[in-house]
Amino acid sequence: MNAIRSDRIHQAYLFTGSRGIGKTSIARIIAKVMRCPGNSWDGQWLNSCDQCASCLEVTRGNSVDVIEIDGASNNGVDHVREIRESARFMPSSGTRKIYIIDEVHMLSTAAFNALLKTLEEPPPHVVFIFATTEPHKIPATILSRVQRFDLKRVSAAQIQARLSQVLQAEGIQAEAPALALIARAAEGGLRDALSLLDQVIAFSGEKISIEGVRESIGLIESQLILSVLKAILERKALEGLAVIQSAYEQGHDLKLLTRHLIEYLHGLILAKIGASAGRAGEYSEHEWQELQRLAPLREVEELEMIFQALHQGVEWIARSPQPKTVLDVLVIKCATAETLVTVGAAGSGSSGPAGGTPRPALVAPPKTQAIPAPALKSAPKDWEGLVLLVRQSRPFIATALENAICSGFPSETKPELLIRFPKSVGFYKEQLSHRTHADSLSQILREAFGRMIPVEIDITEPTGGEPQAESIAARREREHHERETSARQAAENHPVIREAQALFGGELSPIEILVNGSPKAGGSHAGKP
Ligand SMILES: [Zn+2]
Repeated sequence: MNAIRSDRIHQAYLFTGSRGIGKTSIARIIAKVMRCPGNSWDGQWLNSCDQCASCLEVTRGNSVDVIEIDGASNNGVDHVREIRESARFMPSSGTRKIYIIDEVHMLSTAAFNALLKTLEEPPPHVVFIFATTEPHKIPATILSRVQRFDLKRVSAAQIQARLSQVLQAEGIQAEAPALALIARAAEGGLRDALSLLDQVIAFSGEKISIEGVRESIGLIESQLILSVLKAILERKALEGLAVIQSAYEQGHDLKLLTRHLIEYLHGLILAKIGASAGRAGEYSEHEWQELQRLAPLREVEELEMIFQALHQGVEWIARSPQPKTVLDVLVIKCATAETLVTVGAAGSGSSGPAGGTPRPALVAPPKTQAIPAPALKSAPKDWEGLVLLVRQSRPFIATALENAICSGFPSETKPELLIRFPKSVGFYKEQLSHRTHADSLSQILREAFGRMIPVEIDITEPTGGEPQAESIAARREREHHERETSARQAAENHPVIREAQALFGGELSPIEILVNGSPKAGGSHAGKP
């Protein structure tokens, strides 16, 4: 907005962020404002007049000077050449011609090269706005020529506020927990939340209740999930099984139920370590209160182990022909297991089993894992080795570390461990800095390296395009994606599939890789024959 006001418009912008976050909407708004001769500054925003010919054309989507291109279907070098050709001509009105290329990461290498030539010597009247969910697939040469904006997910609380605004304008009543449920289901995507809301309105009419939301979009209400969680934490396995039985009879998706359990457990751990109220924004007020009430029931270590067990269980449930049986066993495991040592309470050094008969462990046998070994044979050689070591006893801390980039590893000459989190996962810094976690980490480090290792944690500000170091989690995700892409290509080129597509004109469903590296087409080819 400031750039437009002071007429210092960059020639190419890049918006990144997850699906449905509003990248193309923002691109359109900016295009409109850039071209509107009557735009006005209200002290906070630059607004388009929405009345002039240019504004009306953009609104109707038929502006000849604001050109929207879907990069996924126009990804060849010829398409980019067409763009370059047409970009040479002046706009039909006004001073700027704006090209919005959505899903720009889908362009072929040759197409990117052609685009690069245009970006190197752009016609002065042209502005490019790129949008992508996957900035890491864009060549660095392109990235270095764009001004990049990473759009953040909207918190559930913000989405909820927006939904109630919309409903108020429409004169529709809604229970707050019902809106919280929609907001959470949308997972940070405002567009998804609004379309879910449409669905619910069509189903419920003038009054939106939590039951209405659940029935219309097939969600599982929080009360049900919280009851399973409560049963697990109170070690009442049978109660947990009863709730699951009724969820099963109501036709709920048990994989989804398990996913929700994991989400709540995440919230529970946050509540347990005293996360700030800001983090509570992901949960409704009622949910957050409930999580805080449940938090004292277990030690952080136990919560982390349950988290880990459920995390591993999700895929197991998804693959099993008897998902309910698997979930039953998982709940029994979670409800009956407990850690042998309470690290937080026992302080440093090894302590014996915390009274009573040891119960079965969830993930790793605590006898060898949770009780620190007297002397470790060798210190981990690198960052990955260290994260693996941490995972053996503190999976939750390891998960945080996997999202970090190690910028300094302890050695003979370097005393400390330096890690930094990309801004998008900056909340892990807060988690790791909490005393419980900081203490455990420094204990693990002391045992591994045989001396005190100071840990310095930073947040990385996104830079304008330089390729950034990758965290373990980011690398894993990228590799997973690459496998999916090549699986998809293999499927697309398969003669039988090609024949089927030629005959029926169907489309390939999204491909999901379920087992280590072996591709499997996700779901049925729903919709078309
Ligand atoms: Zn206008």
